Amino acid sequence: MSIITVERKVLEKNDELAAKNRTVFEAHGLFVINLVSSPGSGKTSILEQTLCHLKKRMRVAVIEGDVQTDFDAQRIAKLDVPVVQIVTNGGCHLDAKLIQDALVNLTLDGMDLLIIENVGNLVCPANYDLGEHMKVVVASTTEGDDKPLKYPAMFRNASALLINKIDLLPYVRCTLAELKGNALKINPNLKVFETSCTTGQGIEEWCAWLEQQRTNLIHP
Ligand code: MG
Ligand code: ZN
Repeated sequence: MSIITVERKVLEKNDELAAKNRTVFEAHGLFVINLVSSPGSGKTSILEQTLCHLKKRMRVAVIEGDVQTDFDAQRIAKLDVPVVQIVTNGGCHLDAKLIQDALVNLTLDGMDLLIIENVGNLVCPANYDLGEHMKVVVASTTEGDDKPLKYPAMFRNASALLINKIDLLPYVRCTLAELKGNALKINPNLKVFETSCTTGQGIEEWCAWLEQQRTNLIHP
């Protein structure tokens, strides 16, 4: 029973810090998304494609969360986008304190969009508010079509779903209608995109939507 109490206290403290982060983001007119998925779904590839599209139209920064390496941050840095790496040393999620510390290393003035790539994990990142405007979940066709039913909290708390590796659909055990149906059963408000970082399918549509969300939510 005491474990539950400790967990609740940790989450309460996290929510307080997330609210502080939110105040910082709002003060800078910064739109922030928290990109979540299981490992290997293609978050970093999605991020690369998204940055290539959006960096011509707005100023974007990235916070990379990883358990052990800075491989992903190195990929992002190649695109000439400001990036801060958080290595959690085994920690399975990012929390608001880690984001607060990472923000010190970024120039937020004049920044339009901050993308946080969370640690690959569909469980606890669902419960840790970082102060972001929205969570975006990536689920790839290679993971099958039952992920939304197995990890409902993540799909319930997300605003958008990117069904990635859509080009592999003919080769994997995944029915697109089933995956979509399962996701929408958990969260009927999810905005769903079908994407491929190999063919580029859906990337433009996703980026246009993201830009629109920023316009809707940020009042400079
Ligand atoms: Mg990654
Ligand atoms: Zn965790």
